[in-house]
Formats: sequence, C-alpha cells, structure tokens
Amino acid sequence: MRVVIIGAGVMGCATALELSRRGVRDIIVLERAVPGAEASSAAAGMLAAQVESKDDAERELFVRAREGYGAWAAELRDVSGVDIGHRRSGALEIAVSAEEAEKLRARVEADRAFGLRAELLDPAAARKVEPELSPEIAAAAWFPDEGQVDPPQLLRALVAAIARAGIIVRSGATVASIVEEQGRCAGVALDSREVLRADAVVLAAGSWSSLVPGVPSTLPAVRPVRGQLVMLEERPPRLSSIVFHRHAYVVPRGDGRVICGSTMENVGHRREVTAEGVHRILATAIRIAPGLGAAELSRAWCNFRPHSDGGPHVGRSSVPGLFLATGHNGILLAKASADVVAGAVLDGRARA
Ligand SMILES: Cc1cc2nc3c(=O)[nH]c(=O)nc-3n(C[C@H](O)[C@H](O)[C@H](O)COP(=O)(O)OP(=O)(O)OC[C@H]3O[C@@H](n4cnc5c(N)ncnc54)[C@H](O)[C@@H]3O)c2cc1C
Repeated sequence: MRVVIIGAGVMGCATALELSRRGVRDIIVLERAVPGAEASSAAAGMLAAQVESKDDAERELFVRAREGYGAWAAELRDVSGVDIGHRRSGALEIAVSAEEAEKLRARVEADRAFGLRAELLDPAAARKVEPELSPEIAAAAWFPDEGQVDPPQLLRALVAAIARAGIIVRSGATVASIVEEQGRCAGVALDSREVLRADAVVLAAGSWSSLVPGVPSTLPAVRPVRGQLVMLEERPPRLSSIVFHRHAYVVPRGDGRVICGSTMENVGHRREVTAEGVHRILATAIRIAPGLGAAELSRAWCNFRPHSDGGPHVGRSSVPGLFLATGHNGILLAKASADVVAGAVLDGRARA
C-alpha cells in the first residue's frame, strides 16, 4: 500500500510516523519547502489542555492528548536522539478584575468536577507559585498539569524519526493538484508534472489546505489566522510556569527563553511581523510579569494557524482515498489526530 502525504508539518510527519508504526511500508511525504518550515516550528508549543478547552468535549480530547505527550516524547527521543523539551511546567491564568476572577472560579470548578487538578489562588498564593507576577492581579487559577514542548525540536525529532523509519520525504515538491479518477482519489500531480499514484492521499497542508487544487468543495474552508510571537531572554531565568491573561501568554522555556504571544489576525498569508503586533504582545507580557521589561528582545516571527469554522478535519473525506489532517491546534493534538488519521487510512484499505 502506498500513502502520499501532502505537507511535512507536525500533522504530515506525525501521521507518516504512525502509519509506519502500523506497518505501512511505502509512505512519501511531499513538502513544497523544507519539513517543519511553517506553523509547526513557529508555534509557542503550549500543551494547555485545560486553559484552552471551551467545552466538555474539548476538555476530554485535549486532556487525553496532553497526557499522551510524555510517552510520545520518550518514544521520539529513543528513535531520533532529539529531546523535544517536553515539560509539565504548569500554567497560571490571571485575573485583574473581580469579574475575571469570577470566570476563573467557574473554570476551576468545572475542571475539578471533571477530576482534573485546578486551584483558585489569591494574589499572595499566586505569587508563591510565580513570584514575578504583576502586583495588579486580583486572583489566578493554577493548573499544575499543563505542559509545553519546544516546537522546532519536536519537528527535528519527527523528521529524524521518519527518515529512520524509511519514509521518503521530498523537500521542494509542491503538489499542484489532487488526481481524481472515477470519483476516487488516485494520487497527486506535482508542479513538475510528475504524477504519484497512491492508494491513499493525506491532506496535511496546514493553512494552505484549501488552496491545493482538486481539494473537494465539500471541505469547509481552512483559512490562515496569523499569529505573531516575540522571544525574550532573561538571565538568569526567573519565570517558570506558563502565564495567561485572556488571549495573551508568556511561555518560559526554563532556560531563560520566554515566548510571548500572540496575535490572531485575519490578513491572509501576509508574512509580516508588525509594529502594532509586537507592541501589543510586549505590553501585555510586561503587564503579566513586569520584570520582563528588562529582558533582552531576542527575535520576533509570525506564521499561520490552520483555522476552520467547520472544526478540525481529521480522518476520512467525502472523496474515497482522500484523508484529512488539518484545521486545528496541531501541536497539542498532533499525536492524537495522527492516530485517528492512520486508523482511517488502514480502515479504508480494509474496506477497499
Ligand atoms: C503563532 C502561533 C502559535 C501557536 N501556538 C500553538 C501552541 O502553543 N499549541 C498548539 O497546540 N498549537 C499552536 N499553534 C498552532 C500550530 O502551530 C498549528 O496548528 C500546527 O503547527 C499545524 O500543523 P500543520 O502540519 O497542519 O501545518 P504546517 O506546520 O503549516 O505544515 C503544513 C506544511 O504543508 C506544506 N504545504 C502547503 N501546501 C503544499 C503543497 N501544495 N505541496 C506540498 N506541501 C505543501 C507547507 O509548506 C507546510 O510545511 C500555533 C500557531 C501559531 C501560528
């Protein structure tokens, strides 16, 4: 059985590795640039399952994905020799008003009812967890089991692991169209006009997924949501946990690097770090932890989240032979989604 995967971001690479683990021998990953070139290496790397879930279904899925990361990190280290920086750093969500504190109380209660660890802290207790926190906080919710990975390291590990598994990765190979024959996906055509036939094609082209010619019109549009990030360096490291305030966050890596984010912008694929974006990110980061004002500004970058109003697209599509691995927060869900996609591909073979 041959499987062709479009895109070598975290979704394409994790799916390739999972298919290989389940015994598929002929897997080709096509990447128009270099593996991990886009959103996957640009992410903040938070495994913020509790803070980022909006309802019980997400909480269940996200927490399961987060809890699976330890084993995946160990497996990737064993096969690739690369440490992906998986750490249970914990996360604080801060409130600066009584109204925000009330929302945090409700969130903490919902998590506890779910059997998860969460605690509402007064300002003094919050500063025991993170002494650098702003004096203006009214309360904080503490989620000790939230974690993080270092995305560029995750992609290095995945790319090394799939190469060792004998999976072919073709860099600089742009898929120009999906080939459909008699209502079935039969492979892909490259911009070089080469046609690669396949028993299954997996679309993992991130925020470009809707732009691949031949993608069925039944696939709800995946659109780019630009996010900018700024990296600061503090020496010595002072922060240790992820801290959120509303949609903003600081993610200390534990070694002095602090990733501050982010923006959510509907500007298409405009690859620009803007003055306004950096200004807003830094203003909020310094409000969260005033000591960051003295940290060195190391670099800033942006990339594109693959967002879809139709929710994540993971598994079978409306076209037989074409599978989807796109449209969601891929760092947290990468392994969990790769399991679903690999299962669907192999289930598709069993039915064929
Ligand atoms: C600023 C920012 C912060 C983020 N923080 C987090 C976080 O903390 N936690 C979290 O879980 N998620 C986070 N995300 C989201 C996460 O980065 C993405 O959901 C995830 O990386 C998507 O992975 P992907 O493989 O689908 O896409 P990508 O990594 O974008 O990979 C898609 C690949 O497909 C290739 N491609 C596209 N078209 C073609 C074609 N026609 N032919 C061949 N190749 C093609 C591209 O070159 C690219 O390499 C963040 C995203 C951003 C932008």
